[in-house]
Amino acid sequence: MRDDSVRQAPLAMDAAAFRALGHRLVDQLAESLEGVQRGPVTRDESPSAVRQALDLSAPLPESGMDPGPLLERTAQLLFEHSLFNAHPRFFGYITAAPAPIGVLGDFLASAVNANVGAWTLSPAATEIESQTVRWIASFIGYPVDCGGLLLSGGNMANIVCFLAARAAKAPWNVRERGVIGDSGQRLRVYCSAETHTWIQKAADIGGLGTDSIRWIPTDHNLRMNVSALGRQIEADKAAGDVPCMVVGTAGSVSTGAVDPLPDISAVCEEYDVWFHVDGAYGGFAAAVPDAPDDLRALTAAHSVAVDPHKWLYAPLEAGCALVREPGLLRAAFAYHPPYYHFDEQATNYVDYGPQNSRGFRALKVWLGLRHAGASGFRTMIAEDIRLSRAMGDAVRRCAELELITQELSITTFRYVPCDLRPKLGDPAVERYLDSLNRHVLDRLQHGGEAFVSNAVVGNRYVLRACIVNFHTTQADVEAIVEIAVRVGREVHAERIPDRDDPSQRGPIGAMRHRP
Ligand SMILES: *Cc1c(COP(=O)(O)O)cnc(C)c1O
Repeated sequence: MRDDSVRQAPLAMDAAAFRALGHRLVDQLAESLEGVQRGPVTRDESPSAVRQALDLSAPLPESGMDPGPLLERTAQLLFEHSLFNAHPRFFGYITAAPAPIGVLGDFLASAVNANVGAWTLSPAATEIESQTVRWIASFIGYPVDCGGLLLSGGNMANIVCFLAARAAKAPWNVRERGVIGDSGQRLRVYCSAETHTWIQKAADIGGLGTDSIRWIPTDHNLRMNVSALGRQIEADKAAGDVPCMVVGTAGSVSTGAVDPLPDISAVCEEYDVWFHVDGAYGGFAAAVPDAPDDLRALTAAHSVAVDPHKWLYAPLEAGCALVREPGLLRAAFAYHPPYYHFDEQATNYVDYGPQNSRGFRALKVWLGLRHAGASGFRTMIAEDIRLSRAMGDAVRRCAELELITQELSITTFRYVPCDLRPKLGDPAVERYLDSLNRHVLDRLQHGGEAFVSNAVVGNRYVLRACIVNFHTTQADVEAIVEIAVRVGREVHAERIPDRDDPSQRGPIGAMRHRP
């Protein structure tokens, strides 16, 4: 007999089936995660090979299938055809190894499926997100009564702060009237040439246009030249434009350089400009004693962006925007006045950012903070920095590698064959080295032994290793030296760069757009 009180939906799953499938998946994941470090960082496969392996050209199935084999096979295929940023020798970009408790937290969050746009839809989740924001602020030394919310990543966190600055600093109502003032004034934003490409997206999305960005030159340490900043602001004011916001980077994506934040802060105060700190990568290092002192001046910023999916080791995605005056975040995003709400002040995150329906991103971050505690995070961050310095030392000791920079947990270096060492600086040699190292990088990335990325420092194409990974050990950072030298010798012996047709070479790509 049919039970009409229980609907038989194609997606429904009873508790017994859910339990069985869930247990099987967790068993499989525990084994696969443990196996990651024994396998390659990534497999050398073409896009079409991946599509074929996962059978991704099949049409949309008309009928469904048994979820057991579906889940099991999918998990297996994903582990066979993915790049593992949890691998102890993954040194590329700035992508962290995910905390296991965060992985479980995402599972829990999607089971609750809170819509963290409105308090009534997500009472516990909203309060957990608020506490997560306060804890993040407290960890980096920012005022805990700031406003803030979680976003998809550093780009969105920076863009949200940018929009808060735009609304706060335009002398007219920019949200109603748009970005051009009555007498044609334009808003101007300032950042160093090392700034991540989120700034272009922000200027574009925010309607200012990328021409509104004043790229301030850097010194030989790739830090913003603050005198040049002051001069540019003066010139723009004299031209009748409105200096709106200065971006200081706390840990640049290429080399980990930290802008002179105290000096930038002073200039912002002098000219009444919004001081924003992009701490997507380095912000959390403000909590550890041996990070550069300048980093701690992020405390003085009007807004800060940090990225829990980087140095808080949260699984993707989790960025966080912090704004000193919570009202200014509301002023940039809310469309109804505060009295519209309940008696006791309930937070409706829809009023603090661009999203309407929002997932429960905070849970994985909050669980991680409780699991390891502040001291646990300070230990892991400090150890990543120590290992990166150890890598720098190992590179320096090696006659065939040239250490270029070492800051925070990023080390940059290049392979220089012994016969060319005395000729460094010679334009033809430098061209050859750029090409040689481009090939070394390509071979490393395909080889799967260790994964590094690249940067361009002082016009030199260099290899770049970043450690945001609590699985990486001393042995792993020392291995990179042996691997880079072996691959460098191989490529040099084959004289591959010599055979390159220079006219086919693209410009050396900077990696500012990479995570
Ligand atoms: C990673 C990074 C970003 C972008 O963050 P996503 O999480 O990739 O969106 C912005 N700025 C800096 C300095 C970064 O390191």
